[in-house]
Amino acid sequence: MSEGADRLAEVSRRIAEAAQAANRNPADVTLVAVSKTHGADRVRELLDVGHRIFGENRVQEAQGKFPELKAAWPDLELHLIGPLQTNKARDAVALFDVIQSVDREKLAVALAKEMERLGRQPACYIQVNTGEEPQKAGILPKDLDAFVAACRDQHQLPVVGLMCIPPVDEEPALHFALLAKMAARNGLAKLSMGMSSDYETAVRLGATHVRVGSALFGARPPLPVHA
Ligand SMILES: *Cc1c(COP(=O)(O)O)cnc(C)c1O
Repeated sequence: MSEGADRLAEVSRRIAEAAQAANRNPADVTLVAVSKTHGADRVRELLDVGHRIFGENRVQEAQGKFPELKAAWPDLELHLIGPLQTNKARDAVALFDVIQSVDREKLAVALAKEMERLGRQPACYIQVNTGEEPQKAGILPKDLDAFVAACRDQHQLPVVGLMCIPPVDEEPALHFALLAKMAARNGLAKLSMGMSSDYETAVRLGATHVRVGSALFGARPPLPVHA
């Protein structure tokens, strides 16, 4: 087995244990393997052992890697988990099966327009800035209910769930519990929360999708500096 396959088995085992500890069915938790910065060869290691669900945070990077992989593995499911510029909405709708980072009205409008144009309806998650951090994307908790309603009713986006990235220096459980409460209140079934350092906590608090990168693929090279 490849090292990637070993890590996948380990993370899957820990997800199942956390689910069982919370009286949840492990099958109700989906592992999104976050392959950003890693090459297609690393993605293929996991495809070879049956994993099909991947996450990328940049449209351009995903365009370089995934069209070929999707052609070879038609049941591959690709999630966009990073910030999306409106001028990339068309590319995102064309490539991704799920868009987890709907975080503002202008983007909701752009996505609705491109879905109509392309006849393709990637499932959408609303990203919530649960920590109300000024530098972080996401809808503020106080604005969420109105935003969900606008996305569904005005823009007819296929909204299925909520996503959050808790502040690095805070107890993630509080943020996961808040996200779960907001999803329930809005009748949304899907909860994308939990990363390499806290996915077991997220599973205990109801995550249906955990986004795990470094625990599967190893450390990422340092981020490129954007001017
Ligand atoms: C990179 C990233 C992840 C995965 O992070 P790890 O700590 O490597 O598991 C999850 N969610 C988002 C939004 C990310 O950008």
